Amino acid sequence: MEQEKGILIVLSGPSGVGKGTVRKAIMKRDDHKLHYSISATTRKPREGERDGVDYFFKSKEEFQRMIQNNELLEWAEYVGNYYGTPVKYVNDTLTEGKDVLLEIEVQGALQVKTHFPEAVFIFLVPPSLAELQERIVNRGTEAEHMVKHRMLAAREEIELMDKYDYVVVNDKVDDACDKIKAIIIAEHLRKERI
Ligand code: 5GP
Repeated sequence: MEQEKGILIVLSGPSGVGKGTVRKAIMKRDDHKLHYSISATTRKPREGERDGVDYFFKSKEEFQRMIQNNELLEWAEYVGNYYGTPVKYVNDTLTEGKDVLLEIEVQGALQVKTHFPEAVFIFLVPPSLAELQERIVNRGTEAEHMVKHRMLAAREEIELMDKYDYVVVNDKVDDACDKIKAIIIAEHLRKERI
């Protein structure tokens, strides 16, 4: 019998909303055997970030080669850097019947929708835009002009919320994780019924 494919879960939302924190918290619980797809990026590593763990850090030339060789499921330029999802890992893992989690910005999420319309799209929102700005500033990794740039991007991104299957408010990380876990359980039940 053919192996049932896993579910592709796309977690998106504006930068600074805490996608990374929520994603890490979900992966830590790991009771769903979720598999996180590590992205490629041309952004320079932040302090403490490791190649092959947080991202595959690439030069612009390497990244462009990946695009040309169709190695990316989706990619986007975001605040001056490229980010993309290596397609092989996603396809192989789903084929093995395992669920895959992508944590990506909104332009990329919309591209995934064209390739995987059956994927589950979750949009994480901040309790308010004021709170979002506070989180970006408090993270302390961005220069002031970058904070402004990210806030502008966030306003545009929030308008795309309607295209998602679920909207989860990230007030408390644990609550957001509970909700995302519940969504995954429900999606499995739905799939079993079909
Ligand atoms: P950061 O520079 O803060 O790590 O990430 C900036 C933005 O890029 C975040 O919104 C993050 O979710 C997004 N991102 C990370 N990996 C990918 C990816 O593979 N594709 C796309 N489209 N966005 C990504």
